[in-house]
Amino acid sequence: MKTIGLLGGMSWESTAQYYSYINTMVKERLGGLHSAEMVLVSIDFAPLETMQAAGDWDSAGRLLAGKAAQAQAAGADFLVLATNTMHKVAPAIEAAITIPLLHIADATAVKIRSEQDSPCVGLLGTRFTMEQEFYAGRLHAMHGIEVLTPPAEDREIVHRIIYEELILGSVKEDSRAEYVRITQDFAERGAVGVILGCTEIGMLLRPGDLAVPLYDTTRIHAKAAVDEALS
Ligand code: GLU
Repeated sequence: MKTIGLLGGMSWESTAQYYSYINTMVKERLGGLHSAEMVLVSIDFAPLETMQAAGDWDSAGRLLAGKAAQAQAAGADFLVLATNTMHKVAPAIEAAITIPLLHIADATAVKIRSEQDSPCVGLLGTRFTMEQEFYAGRLHAMHGIEVLTPPAEDREIVHRIIYEELILGSVKEDSRAEYVRITQDFAERGAVGVILGCTEIGMLLRPGDLAVPLYDTTRIHAKAAVDEALS
């Protein structure tokens, strides 16, 4: 079994889910007393959030590049960056390590492509993930997936709920209703599924909340990590 390098703390709420999903899947596949070989490097989210809000992506990239190198030095065979947003600095991270980075958007695209022809999907995530090119652009350019995002005022609501509630472990019925309302608009615009493109959103939206399939990036990325670890 390969050793998974899990770079987390963004937030720790979702990293805890990664840890649980990965170990559960390894146990299901190998049986008995098996669990995952893993190196976890978990950061303090507060300073990173300050860099995000200031648009200081260079500092954020340097910070995560150093942490990724730490995971590699500790024995990781490949890296899983447990956040969608921080894949914005994936190039800086990849430049600091020689092990592969298992990109969350690629894992998600492979899953969508296995289920949908010519897909058009809605994307929920932080403002950075919904508005910048690094995520939707990659899905489109590398995987031929069309991505819809909510209108500006709804993007603000989605972003606020992530930072003021989900990252703090707070899951509210009113916020679930808001997310359901926002995703209904996707279906009307032709989306055949919705990407939960923030690793905390799976705490709020569950399969069955919407008429179309949900692509939960936390679960998908965790499964891709297990596939790689056991390959
Ligand atoms: N976990 C989140 C994501 O998947 C947001 C926190 C962060 O900015 O890293 O984008």
